[in-house]
Amino acid sequence: MITFENVSKTYSNHFHAIKVLNFEVQTGEFVSFIGPSGCGKTTTMKMINRLIKHTEGKILINGKDISSINPVELRRNIGYVIQQIGLFPHYTIEENIGLIPELKGWDKIRKKQRVYELMHMVGLEPDRFARKYPKELSGGQQQRVGVARALAADPEIILMDEPFGALDPITREQLQDEFIRLQKTLKKTVVFVTHDMDEALKMSDRIAIMKDGVLLQFDTPEKLLKQPADGFVEEFIGKTRIYQNPEFIKVKDIMRDNPAVAAPDLTPSRAFNQMRQRRTDTLIVVNENGQFEGIVSAYDLQSHMDKILTIQEVVQEQHFYLEESSTAQDALIIISEAKQGIIPIVSHEKVVIGVVTRASLLTTFAGHWAGRKEGVQYESDFVGTTP
Ligand code: ADP
Repeated sequence: MITFENVSKTYSNHFHAIKVLNFEVQTGEFVSFIGPSGCGKTTTMKMINRLIKHTEGKILINGKDISSINPVELRRNIGYVIQQIGLFPHYTIEENIGLIPELKGWDKIRKKQRVYELMHMVGLEPDRFARKYPKELSGGQQQRVGVARALAADPEIILMDEPFGALDPITREQLQDEFIRLQKTLKKTVVFVTHDMDEALKMSDRIAIMKDGVLLQFDTPEKLLKQPADGFVEEFIGKTRIYQNPEFIKVKDIMRDNPAVAAPDLTPSRAFNQMRQRRTDTLIVVNENGQFEGIVSAYDLQSHMDKILTIQEVVQEQHFYLEESSTAQDALIIISEAKQGIIPIVSHEKVVIGVVTRASLLTTFAGHWAGRKEGVQYESDFVGTTP
């Protein structure tokens, strides 16, 4: 765990780069720092491994004040990945990755085993790459070496300063995905500096938004998107960004409450009446406890009108539904296969609490994208109130 207690930084030219920082990064947590250029992200990160010395306050790692740890020793125990890789050009890939184990005095066999294990882990075939030099590798491959080197001595903490910033978009995305996969098993404590909000949203457990040496908000991606602390954070994230990230929107927030429901023993004519009143062509059939049973459509009723006594006889039981904890992304995935373009939303006990329709999804997303294009601002109460 990393703890900042009233940490500030004034550079020798008296520039007060970091005002007062108080935060904790939990063990195994992936945290990103983001903010406009010059806001103090890199300074904050470099104070953790004492590449920059803080002026006031305390920085603790697992409760231990870093000022009491030898800086060289400290750095050997903290992985560090930077944008321009920082590989040694005259060292082979194997030597570059084995640098920290070498400095720590590991024996040859253990070191080689570890280096090969890491090369496999980051997708570099040792037989092909171990004896090559950095300049023989592509940017993406070099960055994989950078990640492997940072992991070499199995440090608890890894600092990453725009590690994928210099890569082309496809390679960047590939490395992001691979790091997410690695992090699932390695569970390192990662402090990640980026200027790319999509990258931060995709990778982080929590995101710290900084401005002028101050931490404005430190929250989960979902919370940041939904409840930005102030206008600056909202502007910085982008007012409509949540609509580009449907995995952060809960269906509960876009569903229509009070859906048209009916008991299975309703007669067809009453069902039609109810549809007319509610201006819908489907009814969600629920049992006496309000639990989802199926869907009845006007079309099915119409075609069987003369042959049935209750709507139960034409209810479509095999119908998609989603629990309230699902996301708009889940809804987008199944909507095209959901009959009549409607998805009932149910509680944990399968009680119907709302409905998401093809039309409501379309209006929610298309409205915001169109609004973005034309520079029109849509208010957030737009969501959930549209048919
Ligand atoms: P970021 O990483 O968010 O772009 P930095 O942490 O690099 O920002 O810098 C924060 C502020 O401190 C900037 O205004 C920068 O110009 C200033 N700064 C950084 N390094 C030094 C230094 N060695 N001496 C004086 N000012 C510095």
